[in-house]
Amino acid sequence: MEYTDLDPSTWVVRSGRPPAVPDNPINAPIVPASTFHAGGAIEYGREANPSASALEEALGGLENGLAIVFSSGMAAANALMDLWPIGAKVIAPTTAYTGVAVRLRELHERGQIELTTCDVTQTQIIIDLLPNSQVLWLESPTNPLLEVAELEILLAHARTCGVTTIVDNTFASPVRQNPLVMGADFVLHSVTKILSGHSDLLMGAVVAQDHANWEQLHVRRVLLGAMPSAFDCYLALRGLRTLFIRYEKSESNAISLVSQLQSHPNVLRLRYPGWGTIAAIEVAGSADRVCESTRLWTYATSLGGVESLLERRRRWPLESHGVPENLIRLSFGIEHPNDLWLDLNRALISGSKI
Ligand SMILES: *Cc1c(COP(=O)(O)O)cnc(C)c1O
Repeated sequence: MEYTDLDPSTWVVRSGRPPAVPDNPINAPIVPASTFHAGGAIEYGREANPSASALEEALGGLENGLAIVFSSGMAAANALMDLWPIGAKVIAPTTAYTGVAVRLRELHERGQIELTTCDVTQTQIIIDLLPNSQVLWLESPTNPLLEVAELEILLAHARTCGVTTIVDNTFASPVRQNPLVMGADFVLHSVTKILSGHSDLLMGAVVAQDHANWEQLHVRRVLLGAMPSAFDCYLALRGLRTLFIRYEKSESNAISLVSQLQSHPNVLRLRYPGWGTIAAIEVAGSADRVCESTRLWTYATSLGGVESLLERRRRWPLESHGVPENLIRLSFGIEHPNDLWLDLNRALISGSKI
Protein backbone atom coordinates (compact mmCIF):
# COMPACT_ATOMS: atom_id res chain seq x y z
CA MET A 1 0.00 0.00 0.00
CA GLU A 2 1.44 3.36 -1.06
CA TYR A 3 0.65 6.43 1.02
CA THR A 4 0.46 8.58 -2.09
CA ASP A 5 -2.75 6.74 -3.03
CA LEU A 6 -4.60 7.59 0.18
CA ASP A 7 -5.72 10.58 2.16
CA PRO A 8 -3.35 10.91 5.17
CA SER A 9 -6.28 10.42 7.57
CA THR A 10 -6.93 7.03 5.93
CA TRP A 11 -3.23 6.16 5.75
CA VAL A 12 -2.80 6.66 9.48
CA VAL A 13 -5.55 4.13 10.23
CA ARG A 14 -4.46 1.54 7.66
CA SER A 15 -0.63 1.62 7.69
CA GLY A 16 1.80 -0.19 9.97
CA ARG A 17 -0.22 -3.40 10.11
CA PRO A 18 0.79 -7.01 9.45
CA PRO A 19 -0.18 -8.50 6.04
CA ALA A 20 -3.87 -9.41 5.74
CA VAL A 21 -3.58 -13.20 5.79
CA PRO A 22 -5.82 -15.56 7.81
CA ASP A 23 -5.12 -15.48 11.54
CA ASN A 24 -2.54 -12.72 11.34
CA PRO A 25 -3.34 -10.14 14.02
CA ILE A 26 -4.72 -6.85 12.65
CA ASN A 27 -2.44 -4.85 14.98
CA ALA A 28 1.36 -5.00 14.95
CA PRO A 29 2.22 -7.02 18.07
CA ILE A 30 4.46 -5.75 20.86
CA VAL A 31 7.74 -7.61 20.40
CA PRO A 32 9.70 -7.58 23.67
CA ALA A 33 13.10 -8.78 22.47
CA SER A 34 16.61 -7.40 22.95
CA THR A 35 18.01 -9.89 20.47
CA PHE A 36 16.80 -11.84 17.42
CA HIS A 37 17.89 -15.14 15.84
CA ALA A 38 20.99 -14.46 13.77
CA GLY A 39 21.06 -14.17 10.01
CA GLY A 40 18.09 -11.83 9.50
CA ALA A 41 17.61 -8.11 8.97
CA ILE A 42 17.29 -7.08 12.65
CA GLU A 43 19.79 -9.01 14.82
CA TYR A 44 19.72 -6.70 17.89
CA GLY A 45 17.13 -4.49 19.63
CA ARG A 46 19.18 -1.32 19.29
CA GLU A 47 19.16 -1.81 15.49
CA ALA A 48 15.42 -2.27 15.05
CA ASN A 49 12.26 -3.76 16.49
CA PRO A 50 9.10 -4.83 14.60
CA SER A 51 6.89 -2.63 16.81
CA ALA A 52 9.10 0.39 16.00
CA SER A 53 9.12 -0.46 12.28
CA ALA A 54 5.30 -0.50 12.19
CA LEU A 55 5.21 2.99 13.73
CA GLU A 56 7.94 4.22 11.39
CA GLU A 57 5.97 3.05 8.35
CA ALA A 58 2.93 5.05 9.49
CA LEU A 59 4.91 8.17 10.43
CA GLY A 60 7.05 8.14 7.29
CA GLY A 61 3.96 8.06 5.09
CA LEU A 62 2.39 10.93 7.01
CA GLU A 63 5.42 13.17 6.45
CA ASN A 64 6.24 11.89 2.93
CA GLY A 65 9.64 10.52 3.87
CA LEU A 66 11.50 7.86 5.82
CA ALA A 67 10.93 7.89 9.58
CA ILE A 68 13.13 6.78 12.43
CA VAL A 69 11.95 6.82 16.04
CA PHE A 70 13.99 7.73 19.13
CA SER A 71 13.53 7.42 22.88
CA SER A 72 12.43 11.11 23.17
CA GLY A 73 12.15 14.25 21.08
CA MET A 74 15.43 15.44 22.62
CA ALA A 75 17.15 12.16 21.71
CA ALA A 76 16.01 12.72 18.12
CA ALA A 77 17.25 16.35 18.22
CA ASN A 78 20.63 15.25 19.60
CA ALA A 79 21.00 12.60 16.88
CA LEU A 80 20.50 15.35 14.27
CA MET A 81 23.05 17.62 15.97
CA ASP A 82 25.50 14.72 16.07
CA LEU A 83 25.56 14.70 12.24
CA TRP A 84 27.13 18.17 12.01
CA PRO A 85 30.85 18.65 11.42
CA ILE A 86 32.87 20.50 14.08
CA GLY A 87 32.58 24.25 13.50
CA ALA A 88 29.32 24.01 11.52
CA LYS A 89 27.61 27.37 11.08
CA VAL A 90 24.07 26.94 12.35
CA ILE A 91 21.10 29.33 12.18
CA ALA A 92 18.37 28.65 14.76
CA PRO A 93 15.34 30.46 16.21
CA THR A 94 15.96 32.95 19.04
CA THR A 95 13.12 31.32 20.91
CA ALA A 96 12.81 27.62 20.24
CA TYR A 97 11.81 24.63 22.37
CA THR A 98 13.80 25.09 25.61
CA GLY A 99 15.77 21.83 25.42
CA VAL A 100 16.82 22.46 21.82
CA ALA A 101 17.77 26.10 22.50
CA VAL A 102 19.85 25.17 25.56
CA ARG A 103 21.57 22.31 23.73
CA LEU A 104 22.49 24.51 20.73
CA ARG A 105 23.88 27.16 23.09
CA GLU A 106 25.96 24.49 24.85
CA LEU A 107 27.42 23.26 21.56
CA HIS A 108 28.25 26.87 20.64
CA GLU A 109 29.90 27.59 23.99
CA ARG A 110 32.02 24.44 23.68
CA GLY A 111 33.21 25.56 20.24
CA GLN A 112 31.53 22.65 18.46
CA ILE A 113 29.26 24.85 16.31
CA GLU A 114 29.00 28.54 15.41
CA LEU A 115 25.43 29.50 16.31
CA THR A 116 23.49 32.52 15.04
CA THR A 117 19.98 32.97 16.41
CA CYS A 118 17.19 34.80 14.54
CA ASP A 119 13.55 35.64 14.96
CA VAL A 120 11.92 33.04 12.63
CA THR A 121 9.56 35.69 11.24
CA GLN A 122 12.53 37.75 9.93
CA THR A 123 12.61 36.03 6.55
CA GLN A 124 15.04 38.41 4.83
CA ILE A 125 17.56 38.34 7.70
CA ILE A 126 17.64 34.53 7.56
CA ILE A 127 17.93 34.53 3.75
CA ASP A 128 20.92 36.89 3.99
CA LEU A 129 22.66 34.54 6.46
CA LEU A 130 22.15 31.40 4.35
CA PRO A 131 25.07 31.72 1.88
CA ASN A 132 27.47 31.66 4.84
CA SER A 133 25.80 28.80 6.78
CA GLN A 134 25.66 25.01 6.76
CA VAL A 135 22.54 24.29 8.82
CA LEU A 136 19.15 25.99 9.20
CA TRP A 137 17.14 24.79 12.21
CA LEU A 138 13.53 25.95 12.12
CA GLU A 139 10.53 25.54 14.37
CA SER A 140 7.15 26.79 13.17
CA PRO A 141 4.99 27.67 14.99
CA THR A 142 7.55 28.20 17.76
CA ASN A 143 7.15 26.92 21.29
CA PRO A 144 5.80 28.85 23.20
CA LEU A 145 5.60 32.20 21.31
CA LEU A 146 3.63 30.76 18.36
CA GLU A 147 5.68 32.62 15.76
CA VAL A 148 5.18 31.35 12.21
CA ALA A 149 8.07 31.17 9.74
CA GLU A 150 7.66 31.53 5.97
CA LEU A 151 8.76 27.93 5.57
CA GLU A 152 8.37 27.57 1.81
CA ILE A 153 10.47 30.64 1.05
CA LEU A 154 13.16 29.82 3.62
CA LEU A 155 13.44 26.17 2.59
CA ALA A 156 13.67 27.05 -1.11
CA HIS A 157 16.49 29.56 -0.45
CA ALA A 158 18.31 27.13 1.83
CA ARG A 159 18.17 24.48 -0.89
CA THR A 160 19.78 26.77 -3.48
CA CYS A 161 22.54 27.58 -0.93
CA GLY A 162 23.15 23.88 -0.14
CA VAL A 163 22.18 24.43 3.51
CA THR A 164 20.90 21.40 5.47
CA THR A 165 17.41 22.13 6.81
CA ILE A 166 15.63 20.76 9.85
CA VAL A 167 12.04 21.69 10.74
CA ASP A 168 10.64 20.91 14.18
CA ASN A 169 7.06 20.16 13.16
CA THR A 170 5.77 19.21 16.63
CA PHE A 171 3.14 21.99 16.87
CA ALA A 172 1.73 21.90 13.34
CA SER A 173 2.00 18.11 12.99
CA PRO A 174 1.58 16.47 9.57
CA VAL A 175 -2.12 17.37 9.82
CA ARG A 176 -1.29 21.01 9.06
CA GLN A 177 2.06 21.02 7.25
CA ASN A 178 4.57 18.72 5.54
CA PRO A 179 7.98 20.45 5.54
CA LEU A 180 9.59 17.68 3.44
CA VAL A 181 7.16 18.50 0.63
CA MET A 182 8.32 22.14 0.92
CA GLY A 183 11.94 21.03 0.50
CA ALA A 184 13.24 20.37 4.04
CA ASP A 185 15.88 17.68 4.54
CA PHE A 186 14.65 16.56 7.97
CA VAL A 187 11.46 16.87 10.00
CA LEU A 188 11.70 16.53 13.76
CA HIS A 189 8.84 15.47 16.03
CA SER A 190 8.32 15.11 19.71
CA VAL A 191 6.06 12.05 19.39
CA THR A 192 5.43 12.57 23.11
CA LYS A 193 3.00 15.35 22.13
CA ILE A 194 0.04 15.28 19.73
CA LEU A 195 1.25 12.41 17.52
CA SER A 196 0.81 9.89 20.35
CA GLY A 197 -1.66 12.22 22.06
CA HIS A 198 -2.37 10.65 25.46
CA SER A 199 0.43 11.94 27.73
CA ASP A 200 1.51 8.37 28.44
CA LEU A 201 4.93 8.04 26.79
CA LEU A 202 8.11 9.85 25.74
CA MET A 203 9.26 9.50 22.14
CA GLY A 204 10.85 11.39 19.27
CA ALA A 205 11.09 10.89 15.53
CA VAL A 206 12.97 12.26 12.56
CA VAL A 207 11.59 11.89 9.06
CA ALA A 208 14.30 12.14 6.40
CA GLN A 209 13.92 13.21 2.80
CA ASP A 210 16.19 10.51 1.40
CA HIS A 211 17.60 7.12 2.25
CA ALA A 212 21.21 8.26 2.76
CA ASN A 213 20.09 10.72 5.45
CA TRP A 214 17.90 8.05 7.05
CA GLU A 215 20.85 5.64 7.13
CA GLN A 216 23.08 8.21 8.87
CA LEU A 217 20.42 8.75 11.53
CA HIS A 218 20.01 5.03 11.98
CA VAL A 219 23.72 4.76 12.75
CA ARG A 220 23.34 7.61 15.27
CA ARG A 221 20.43 5.83 16.97
CA VAL A 222 22.44 2.63 17.27
CA LEU A 223 25.55 4.37 18.60
CA LEU A 224 23.78 6.83 20.91
CA GLY A 225 21.54 4.03 22.19
CA ALA A 226 18.35 6.04 21.78
CA MET A 227 15.90 3.25 20.84
CA PRO A 228 12.35 3.56 22.22
CA SER A 229 10.74 0.55 23.87
CA ALA A 230 8.48 -1.81 21.91
CA PHE A 231 5.63 -1.10 24.32
CA ASP A 232 5.91 2.67 23.78
CA CYS A 233 5.98 2.14 20.00
CA TYR A 234 2.76 0.15 20.28
CA LEU A 235 1.11 2.90 22.33
CA ALA A 236 2.34 5.64 19.98
CA LEU A 237 0.96 3.85 16.92
CA ARG A 238 -2.35 3.28 18.69
CA GLY A 239 -2.48 7.00 19.50
CA LEU A 240 -1.47 8.00 15.98
CA ARG A 241 -4.51 6.21 14.49
CA THR A 242 -6.75 8.99 15.85
CA LEU A 243 -4.37 11.91 15.14
CA PHE A 244 -6.66 13.62 12.65
CA ILE A 245 -9.86 13.54 14.72
CA ARG A 246 -7.98 14.58 17.86
CA TYR A 247 -6.18 17.40 16.07
CA GLU A 248 -9.36 18.71 14.47
CA LYS A 249 -11.31 18.65 17.75
CA SER A 250 -8.47 20.27 19.74
CA GLU A 251 -8.10 22.92 17.05
CA SER A 252 -11.82 23.69 17.02
CA ASN A 253 -11.69 24.05 20.83
CA ALA A 254 -8.71 26.39 20.45
CA ILE A 255 -10.50 28.54 17.86
CA SER A 256 -13.63 28.69 19.99
CA LEU A 257 -11.84 29.71 23.22
CA VAL A 258 -9.42 32.08 21.51
CA SER A 259 -12.35 34.13 20.21
CA GLN A 260 -13.63 34.46 23.81
CA LEU A 261 -10.18 35.10 25.32
CA GLN A 262 -9.55 37.92 22.84
CA SER A 263 -11.93 40.22 24.71
CA HIS A 264 -11.21 38.94 28.23
CA PRO A 265 -10.33 41.85 30.55
CA ASN A 266 -7.51 39.86 32.22
CA VAL A 267 -5.86 38.74 28.96
CA LEU A 268 -3.31 41.41 28.02
CA ARG A 269 -2.06 39.65 24.90
CA LEU A 270 -3.11 36.57 23.03
CA ARG A 271 -0.93 34.61 20.64
CA TYR A 272 -2.56 32.21 18.19
CA PRO A 273 -1.62 31.70 14.53
CA GLY A 274 -5.30 31.22 13.55
CA TRP A 275 -4.92 27.41 13.42
CA GLY A 276 -3.44 24.62 15.53
CA THR A 277 -4.04 23.27 19.00
CA ILE A 278 -1.78 25.56 21.06
CA ALA A 279 -2.22 29.20 22.11
CA ALA A 280 -0.49 31.47 24.62
CA ILE A 281 -1.91 34.26 26.75
CA GLU A 282 -0.21 36.97 28.79
CA VAL A 283 -2.36 37.58 31.82
CA ALA A 284 -3.00 40.36 34.32
CA GLY A 285 -2.27 39.54 37.97
CA SER A 286 -0.57 36.30 38.95
CA ALA A 287 -0.07 33.80 36.12
CA ASP A 288 0.87 31.15 38.69
CA ARG A 289 -2.41 31.72 40.53
CA VAL A 290 -4.35 31.32 37.28
CA CYS A 291 -2.62 27.96 36.64
CA GLU A 292 -3.19 26.82 40.21
CA SER A 293 -6.86 27.76 40.31
CA THR A 294 -8.21 25.75 37.38
CA ARG A 295 -10.28 22.69 38.28
CA LEU A 296 -10.69 21.09 34.86
CA TRP A 297 -7.60 22.29 32.97
CA THR A 298 -4.55 20.32 34.11
CA TYR A 299 -1.70 22.41 35.50
CA ALA A 300 1.37 20.58 34.15
CA THR A 301 4.09 20.88 31.56
CA SER A 302 3.95 19.27 28.09
CA LEU A 303 1.19 19.52 25.49
CA GLY A 304 -0.73 17.68 22.80
CA GLY A 305 -2.69 15.26 24.99
CA VAL A 306 -6.44 14.66 24.91
CA GLU A 307 -6.68 16.63 28.18
CA SER A 308 -6.41 20.43 28.11
CA LEU A 309 -3.37 21.58 29.99
CA LEU A 310 -1.78 24.90 30.89
CA GLU A 311 1.50 26.17 32.23
CA ARG A 312 3.43 29.39 32.95
CA ARG A 313 6.56 28.69 30.91
CA ARG A 314 8.93 30.99 32.78
CA ARG A 315 8.59 28.83 35.91
CA TRP A 316 11.42 26.87 34.23
CA PRO A 317 14.77 28.59 34.89
CA LEU A 318 16.15 27.56 31.48
CA GLU A 319 13.21 28.96 29.47
CA SER A 320 14.23 31.77 27.09
CA HIS A 321 14.07 35.25 28.59
CA GLY A 322 12.33 36.31 25.39
CA VAL A 323 9.25 34.58 26.84
CA PRO A 324 7.26 36.99 29.05
CA GLU A 325 7.03 36.11 32.78
CA ASN A 326 3.23 36.22 32.66
CA LEU A 327 2.83 34.02 29.58
CA ILE A 328 0.68 30.92 29.98
CA ARG A 329 0.82 28.28 27.26
CA LEU A 330 -2.53 26.62 26.58
CA SER A 331 -2.68 23.13 25.06
CA PHE A 332 -6.23 22.41 23.94
CA GLY A 333 -7.59 18.90 24.45
CA ILE A 334 -10.79 17.29 23.22
CA GLU A 335 -13.19 18.12 26.09
CA HIS A 336 -16.37 20.15 25.50
CA PRO A 337 -15.47 23.81 24.80
CA ASN A 338 -18.13 25.12 27.21
CA ASP A 339 -16.57 23.25 30.14
CA LEU A 340 -13.11 24.49 29.14
CA TRP A 341 -14.30 28.09 28.87
CA LEU A 342 -16.15 28.16 32.21
CA ASP A 343 -13.11 26.79 34.04
CA LEU A 344 -10.52 29.01 32.35
CA ASN A 345 -12.65 32.13 32.67
CA ARG A 346 -13.09 31.53 36.41
CA ALA A 347 -9.34 30.89 36.87
CA LEU A 348 -8.46 34.09 34.97
CA ILE A 349 -10.76 36.11 37.22
CA SER A 350 -9.48 34.59 40.48
CA GLY A 351 -5.84 34.86 39.33
CA SER A 352 -6.09 38.60 38.85
CA LYS A 353 -7.27 39.26 42.43
CA ILE A 354 -4.49 40.66 44.62
C1 LIG B 1 8.51 18.72 23.71
C2 LIG B 1 9.19 19.25 22.52
C3 LIG B 1 10.45 18.77 22.13
C4 LIG B 1 11.21 17.73 22.93
O1 LIG B 1 10.56 16.49 22.96
P1 LIG B 1 10.63 15.44 24.18
O2 LIG B 1 9.82 14.31 23.68
O3 LIG B 1 10.07 16.14 25.40
O4 LIG B 1 12.07 15.09 24.39
C5 LIG B 1 11.02 19.30 20.98
N1 LIG B 1 10.40 20.27 20.27
C6 LIG B 1 9.20 20.76 20.63
C7 LIG B 1 8.57 21.83 19.80
C8 LIG B 1 8.55 20.28 21.77
O5 LIG B 1 7.37 20.80 22.12
